[in-house]
Amino acid sequence: MTRTPTPFDGPQHGRPVPIRVSRRSVLQSLPSMKGRSAYLAVPVGHYLGAKVGLLFTAMPEGSAILWPANSVLLTALLLRKGRGIVPLAVLVMLAELLADLPSFSLAEALLFGAINVAESVLAFSLLRRRGFDLHFGTLADLRRFLLAGPIAAALAAALAGGAVYSLFRGGGTTYAEFVRVWWFGDGLGMLVFTPLLLGLAEARGHVLQRASALGESDWTMLALAAAALAVFVATRDATLLGMPITISLLLPFAVAVATRFGLAVTAGTVAAMALAVAVKTSIGHAPFRAVEAHEAVLRAQEFILVLSIMTIGLAALLGQVRARQREVELANARLAEANERLEARVREKTAQLEVLNHELRALASVDALTGIANRRAFLEQAHKEFDNSVRYGTPLSALMLDLDHFKRVNDRHGHEAGDRVLQQTAAAIVEMLRSGDLVARYGGEEFVVLAPHTGRPEAAALATRIKERISRCAMVYDHAALHVTISIGVASRLDDDSDLRALLRRADAALYDAKRAGRDRVALADEPADGRRTEPSVA
Ligand code: GH3
Ligand code: MG
Ligand code: MG
Repeated sequence: MTRTPTPFDGPQHGRPVPIRVSRRSVLQSLPSMKGRSAYLAVPVGHYLGAKVGLLFTAMPEGSAILWPANSVLLTALLLRKGRGIVPLAVLVMLAELLADLPSFSLAEALLFGAINVAESVLAFSLLRRRGFDLHFGTLADLRRFLLAGPIAAALAAALAGGAVYSLFRGGGTTYAEFVRVWWFGDGLGMLVFTPLLLGLAEARGHVLQRASALGESDWTMLALAAAALAVFVATRDATLLGMPITISLLLPFAVAVATRFGLAVTAGTVAAMALAVAVKTSIGHAPFRAVEAHEAVLRAQEFILVLSIMTIGLAALLGQVRARQREVELANARLAEANERLEARVREKTAQLEVLNHELRALASVDALTGIANRRAFLEQAHKEFDNSVRYGTPLSALMLDLDHFKRVNDRHGHEAGDRVLQQTAAAIVEMLRSGDLVARYGGEEFVVLAPHTGRPEAAALATRIKERISRCAMVYDHAALHVTISIGVASRLDDDSDLRALLRRADAALYDAKRAGRDRVALADEPADGRRTEPSVA
């Protein structure tokens, strides 16, 4: 079972701690306020809350310092979105009568019950209209809650309740004093106990599960807060072993709890402290040292107000910050994942592109018909060979080859036959070469060979071998034999040759000589005695 964490949960510790608390905790076995059991849980809760409130009545007329009861019906209505409001209101009225009757008359009890029910219903309807989030997801929700519940609804109830007290009891207390004590008692009860009950109902067993993820220092802090509360409870007259102890000392402990535990635990701590202050004030102990009883009630309420606003506000704020942090972390994780996917896709595409580029480069340098290099690829490589030959002073020879009367082959046997002849000629030339020799189709029926480390006599011999091979072998097309011959011009690099082009030009001129001399022969570009080319010799 998984659920998204709520601000009621304690903060998530950086280092995950294995959860040892069983899922079926005591909290889960409590009756839920959401289902049918609310019709039992709400009146019982209200009765207990009213009894606790009546215990803390410091005023002789019976008004309470802290009134937790009304938060029960309010919590139930919020959780149930108002479902069963009428039967719940009736049951709460009965619970109030039961709790009040020993101390108040039937008329008073009925009026108090009606006022208390109206207060919870008013707070609920105000909150509902303003779109309040039960999880106190943002500080704005806490603000909405304060305005609707402790401020507006509790004041309205206090104005009515104060009138009932003035009417039935009076005594030495003014209407304004009754209003203030009722307002603060109800407001504080709502402020402290509603987040606590909502937290318990929403988080249930998860409160403890979350708590188990807290560190040692957190538990120490909680223990210190409990110890401080115990010391405060144990002291009479605000002194311990002669040391003055004032209740303000509880504040830092409550704040420390608020920083590390969620809203529910913070509200629980504040509730315990508020109850302790209320009990001590009501039984006449002097948490504020020696002040008059009325003054002590006012101070107790003010202290509880400061305590609860600070700590519950802080817990809600931190809950909001942690929720945002979780959202940001989640968004970052999603972003990183998307980025990773994108990068993988880019890598894949780049690899495909590289393969395609490689193929494209190979295609761009090969002659489609014969499969040997084309002119561009040849020249690229040949320039390097020429430079090497110059640098190391090694011989280098070029052969220009051109099929004789090739036009006639096309004319007599068709273009396709011509193509076959070109292919077979290329293959025949390649067969005669050494590795390291360059060969390419230079033009239509023209080929070029560049032979490194090959001097004039070896180049002439190579050219002759090629010429003979071509004239000797019949080319085959469509089961017919075709006889072709080739003319070859040979030139070897001279110191005079400024670049590859000069060498090729001389080979080309020799080829022209071979053609002129009758074709089917090899012509050598003559080696000039004075560094200039002379007429080529024809073999
Ligand atoms: P020469 O002995 O003077 O070289 O005569 P030639 O007919 O071979 O020379 P010419 O330059 O007059 O003709 C070349 C012919 O080569 C013309 C053209 O149709 C043919 N040719 C060029 N490229 C191709 C090709 O890719 N396939 C075929 N089948 N013929 C081609
Ligand atoms: Mg030609
Ligand atoms: Mg030709």
